[in-house]
Amino acid sequence: MEMTGNIGIGIDLGGTKICGILLDEEGRILKRVDGSTGDPNSEETVLKNLFQVIDDLKENFPVASIGIGCAGPDDFFNQLVVTSPNLPFIKNYPLQRIVQDRFGILTVVDNDVKTAALAELVLGKGKDFQPFFFITLGTGIGGALVYDGKIYRGASNTAGEIGHTVFDLESKEMCGCGKYGCLEVLSSGTAIRRFVLQGMRNGFPSKLKGVPEELIDARLIAQKAREGDELSRNAFLRAGFWLGVAFSSLVQILNPKAIIIGGGMSEAWDLMEEKVKETLVRLTMEFPRGNLRIFKSTHGPLSGAIGAALLGMRPKNRGPLNGPPE
Ligand SMILES: [Zn+2]
Repeated sequence: MEMTGNIGIGIDLGGTKICGILLDEEGRILKRVDGSTGDPNSEETVLKNLFQVIDDLKENFPVASIGIGCAGPDDFFNQLVVTSPNLPFIKNYPLQRIVQDRFGILTVVDNDVKTAALAELVLGKGKDFQPFFFITLGTGIGGALVYDGKIYRGASNTAGEIGHTVFDLESKEMCGCGKYGCLEVLSSGTAIRRFVLQGMRNGFPSKLKGVPEELIDARLIAQKAREGDELSRNAFLRAGFWLGVAFSSLVQILNPKAIIIGGGMSEAWDLMEEKVKETLVRLTMEFPRGNLRIFKSTHGPLSGAIGAALLGMRPKNRGPLNGPPE
């Protein structure tokens, strides 16, 4: 069968995994390829693995574009990845040019949360709930604001970075960004894990006692919380409280129609939902909060890759980068 039309590759480049998909014009996933990032300190290894995923995806398909979502601040307008928390070799890195030169295919790179928000806008429930704020909850926390059919980028493409907004001025927890009390040290999977480990060290009883520390992560803690473990439940209640504080600022400043939750920890949303909503009621005025909807993202872990493909395929999604980047 001869394939015609607009087919694009979308890549979510993470610190441990590379998730790639092939998307057609109608938003159907034609193919999915998952790869390992390999040693995140080795530029050569990461590029080799990335190229392999792209080669596997494009085999037998006339690919018109490649979109890549990558964690960390991205100088979108100059197509340089400024830094990436899980890939230390990245510093003002021309990933777009490297990939485009290697394959001779139009390539666009953006922050991974912005690409995930784009997937929700174009192929998810988001298009009916604008303006919406998209938040990813995982080992870190990211965010993006979408309004009027596009991503709001701000002056240097870092708008929406709620994970590094400080909410707890008393916090003694230093964030990866060097500040104290960012949402990321209060409500992320990493924060939940730290809370439980500290609780056990302080003698708080838990069903996780005796489990090797390296096996304790947010997923296991969620499971124990559902089995009634009080320390694990408290970890999610605390995370939920601070999420509620963060959401209250979003509601008061942006008056969104929806807050949409993505990232691995969205699976544990049920353990935080009540606390988040209770906190929102306490900290916001009724009128801006009145019609707010909060729900989980449509495409789950594939959001970043799907949105990256959409970014490459549809010039209007690129906003200020209309047309092929040089
Ligand atoms: Zn921070």
